[in-house]
Amino acid sequence: MGLLVPRDFLETRIVSKLVLLVLIGVLVYVVYRSANRIGQRDVPAQPKSAEDMVRCVHCGVNLPRSEAVLSKGAFFCGDEHRRLHQS
Ligand SMILES: [Zn+2]
Repeated sequence: MGLLVPRDFLETRIVSKLVLLVLIGVLVYVVYRSANRIGQRDVPAQPKSAEDMVRCVHCGVNLPRSEAVLSKGAFFCGDEHRRLHQS
C-alpha cells in the first residue's frame, strides 16, 4: 500500500503537465487566431483616387481633372461653360 502513494503522486504530476500543455496549446491557438484576424483587418481599403480635382472658373464646381475642359490655362466643367466664360 505504501508504494501506491508515490505512483499516484507521479500520475498527478503527469496529468498536471498534460493539462499545462493543453492550456499552452489553446493559448497559442488563441493568439494565432487573433493575430490572423488583425492581419485581415490590415487589408488596405480601396485605393484612393490620386486624381487631381480642379475647379471650373465659371461656376466654381470641383471635378476630376480628366473630366475638365482646359482652355487657355483655365479649367471648365464643360464646353458650355468654356464658351460662356470666353464670350
Ligand atoms: Zn462650370
